[in-house]
Amino acid sequence: MKPATVKISSVALKHNIQKIKQKAPHSKLIAVVKANAYGHGVEFVARAVEENVDGFGVARLEEALTLRSQGIIKPILLLEGFFSATDLPIIAVNNIQTVVHNQPQLDALQQANLPNPIKVWLKIDTGMHRLGVHLDEVDDFYHQLQQCPNVQPQIGFVSHFSRADELDSDYTELQLQRFLQTTNNKQGERTIAASGGILFWPQSHLDWIRPGIIMYGVSPTNTPAEIYGLKPVMTLTSSLIAVRTHQAGEPVGYGGIWVSEKDTKIGVVAIGYGDGYPRNIPVGTPVFINGRRVPIVGRVSMDMVTVDLGADCQDQVGDEVILWGRELPIEEIAGMTGILSYELMTKLTPRVLTEYV
Ligand code: PLP
Repeated sequence: MKPATVKISSVALKHNIQKIKQKAPHSKLIAVVKANAYGHGVEFVARAVEENVDGFGVARLEEALTLRSQGIIKPILLLEGFFSATDLPIIAVNNIQTVVHNQPQLDALQQANLPNPIKVWLKIDTGMHRLGVHLDEVDDFYHQLQQCPNVQPQIGFVSHFSRADELDSDYTELQLQRFLQTTNNKQGERTIAASGGILFWPQSHLDWIRPGIIMYGVSPTNTPAEIYGLKPVMTLTSSLIAVRTHQAGEPVGYGGIWVSEKDTKIGVVAIGYGDGYPRNIPVGTPVFINGRRVPIVGRVSMDMVTVDLGADCQDQVGDEVILWGRELPIEEIAGMTGILSYELMTKLTPRVLTEYV
């Protein structure tokens, strides 16, 4: 009997890369593989897509070094510029590119003694107001970077949308205009679009796109990504470990929060919050089993969830249960639970097995 397992499809991954390239045919592509490739397994994902992408984006230096130790030779960009002065020689030696977003980082670059110059992208705050230099500081940072011997001559420009998934908001257009205006008199490649920008704001594609979630076949909104021609890469599965007769009027599970109105059969599925399946998933959230959806009933516990299979069910112990992915879009689960698909995928715990298919 299989415990909680994610099945990761390289076919879907490659399909999604091709779809993304069709959407942004004139842009180079940074595959965003931070947070263990959004829970999909960074080594597998990086190897599967390396020949079809132009580089990789990660959040932490350790993630970049993992890729290099796996033999990945394509460019790697530290998307958020998480580094300290002592990291700079490691960044340089491993030919890692980084975002620079503040004065202490610039000071560190100016004072460092490096074996070779680093490729740097200047992060500009166009409206997210999280990281990035202010619009009126861009010229000064740009000139200082240009004069820094530890920085390669071609400086890139990067920014990030805060509301690209809101189709009716003009904030994305405002951010894009600010980005273009502050960089248009400067040499250097530009990138601002992640998944939302790629799908909904084609004018934002520019020199590089940075897809994360759509590469994994999942939408940045709660609309299933299938309508954009994408296929889910991850399918979260487990199996039935019990099928039990259950009488009308009897509760199920901790707190007895659900009481059956009729005689039925309860299926017990081997997955719980110990695997990262959220405890606060509401009663009624579907799982997919033997060609149909059945609702979760009762509370999710650490190792198990209970589902109402119906009195006439033919399901057997050992049958596969799909929690999300193929047959059951994760976006639907996100919509029902109020937990972003991003969070659902990255919160899976090491107990969940991974099967590459
Ligand atoms: N670029 C940056 C700077 C990011 O922080 C992220 C993710 O948070 C991405 C790209 C990828 O975003 P998405 O998964 O929405 O495509």
